[in-house]
Amino acid sequence: MKQKKLLYAGKAKSVYRTDEKGKLIVEFRDDITAFDGGKKDTLKNKGSYNAEVSAFFFEYLAKNGVKTHFLGMIDERHMAVRELEMIPLEVIVRNIAAGSIVRNYPFKEGMKLDPPVIVIDYKDDSRHDPMLNDDLIIALKLATPQDLKKIKKVALLVNALLVKILARQGITLVDFKIEFGKQGKTIYLGDEVSMDSMRLWDKKTGESLDKDVYRFEKGDVMETYNRVVQRITKKAKKP
Ligand code: 5GP
Repeated sequence: MKQKKLLYAGKAKSVYRTDEKGKLIVEFRDDITAFDGGKKDTLKNKGSYNAEVSAFFFEYLAKNGVKTHFLGMIDERHMAVRELEMIPLEVIVRNIAAGSIVRNYPFKEGMKLDPPVIVIDYKDDSRHDPMLNDDLIIALKLATPQDLKKIKKVALLVNALLVKILARQGITLVDFKIEFGKQGKTIYLGDEVSMDSMRLWDKKTGESLDKDVYRFEKGDVMETYNRVVQRITKKAKKP
């Protein structure tokens, strides 16, 4: 597969056309941003760490019945994916209260959310990704009621699978954000599933093992990402 022209460059990934119809290449760059791009840096190896973890999770999820855009790795930071028409929703699943719901609602950080809470934000940086509800999603024609139902069902399945595999590595999945897209009538999990889009806490120590280390300057984020990659991909066993 040959990489062709740049289609889109986001804050941390670039998407390229290829010489194969319906297939794209995603490049995981070394850029890291937080707070709507208000804080940004370039950190060596960050792209390959996120690509490796995303590939690992996409393969694991696919084996367990989740349709994903992942086709294979080209090299350590370039991923071949199915071309999707992306749905501009940030689908967040929360198992433990942290981050924006603690700031915006009277939840205490660390409170268990059982059943998990799904929050859907509108993916629009210029509007600071405002939270949506089902009626708004349908009125804005961002998804049909049937697609929305399916998206929530898949998000909960992804959550259950990720909780299970991470727990085996002594990691608590606090929350995560995923994105979906369509090819024809079929909905696929797209984007990435990495430390940039998840909140992970060490089960024993409570240490942050994700982008919160960068957001809140809790330590050396690349040292943390390196450790998490080893922990997630090298020692993980099948569920
Ligand atoms: P919060 O709403 O607490 O800021 O984020 C909830 C979860 O979704 C966190 O794991 C966070 O990393 C992820 N998340 C929310 N918005 C974004 C976003 O715009 N980009 C990425 N990569 N992750 C996000």
